[in-house]
Amino acid sequence: MIISGKELSAEMKRHMAGQVAGFGEKYGRVPHLVVVLVGEDPGSVSYVAGKAKASEEIGIQNTTIRRSDDISEKELLDIIVGLNADDTVDGILVQLPLPAHIDSDKVIEAIAREKDVDGFHPGNVAALWQKRECILPCTPKGIIKMLKSAGVEIVGKRAVVIGRSNIVGLPVSKLLLDENATVTIAHSRTKNLPEVTREADILVVAIGRPKFVTADMVKPGAVVVDVGVNRDPDTGKLCGDVDFDHCEPVAGIITKVPGGVGPMTIACLMENTIETFLKNVKKR
Ligand code: NAP
Repeated sequence: MIISGKELSAEMKRHMAGQVAGFGEKYGRVPHLVVVLVGEDPGSVSYVAGKAKASEEIGIQNTTIRRSDDISEKELLDIIVGLNADDTVDGILVQLPLPAHIDSDKVIEAIAREKDVDGFHPGNVAALWQKRECILPCTPKGIIKMLKSAGVEIVGKRAVVIGRSNIVGLPVSKLLLDENATVTIAHSRTKNLPEVTREADILVVAIGRPKFVTADMVKPGAVVVDVGVNRDPDTGKLCGDVDFDHCEPVAGIITKVPGGVGPMTIACLMENTIETFLKNVKKR
C-alpha cells in the first residue's frame, strides 16, 4: 500500500478552504501568512511559490517579502520586529537557508513564538519536548497524519528514524515517542545501520541521500516513510532517500517521492496558519 501525501493533503486543503470561507463573515478577515525570502536560491524560490499557491487554494492571504541576499542581519531582524507587531499578520515564516552572513538561529528566535508557523522557535521546540502546548513543525506533523490516515498502529511499535536534524529527525522522533512507539534515532555514526533498520516496524528516513535505503534494510511488512528530496544522479529526476522500486515489494506500507511527505508539509503549514489565526482573533 502506498500512502499518498498528494491525496491526503488535497483532502486537508479542501477541508481548510471550507473552514476559511466562513472566516471573513465571522472574524472580519482571513488568516494572513507572511513568507520572507532572502536571495534567489532555486529550491527556496520553488518552496515559497508552493506555499503561496496552497494559500491561494485555501483562501489564506499570503504575502511574500523578497529581499536580495546582501540584506544585513539587522535589516532582516527589523522586518521581523515589524511583522511581530502587526496584528493582521498571523504567521511568519523565514525561508531557510539564509545567506552565511546572517545568523539563522537569531532570526528564528526573533519571530514571535505565537506566529512561528514553522514551529522552529526555541520556545516551541522546548514546549514540544516538554509535552506542552506548541506549534508543531510541519514535516513531522504531516508524517504522523500520514501514518494515522493509513490506520497504522503506532503504540508499542519499534520505530527507527534515520536522521537527527532539528527540523525533521528529532521532532518526528519525539512525536512518535508521544504516540507510544519505542523509538531509535540513527545517524551517520550509527554502527550496523541495516541491522538497526531491519528491526523497525516503522522506518522514517530523513537523510538527504538519493535511494540510500535499500530493500535489505527494510523488515518485511514494515511501514516506510521517505522524507528525502533529492535529484537522482542518473536521471536528474526528483527522488527520495529510499530506493522505492526495490523497497516497495518488501514494505507493507510506503510513501513515495514526489507526492508523499512534501505536500503534507505544506498542508500542515496551512493548518498551523489557521491555528495561529484563530488564537490571534480570539485574543481580541
Ligand atoms: P540534514 O539536516 O542534512 O540531516 C541529515 C541527517 O541524516 C543527519 O542527522 C545525518 O547524520 C544523517 N545522515 C547523513 N548521512 C547518513 C548516513 N550515511 N547514514 C545515516 N545517517 C546519515 O537534513 P534534513 O534537513 O533533516 O533533511 C533530510 C532530507 O529531507 C533532505 O533530503 C531534505 O531535502 C528532506 N526534507 C524534506 C522535507 C519535506 O517536506 N518533504 C522537509 C524537510 C527536509 P549526522 O547527524 O550524524 O550528520
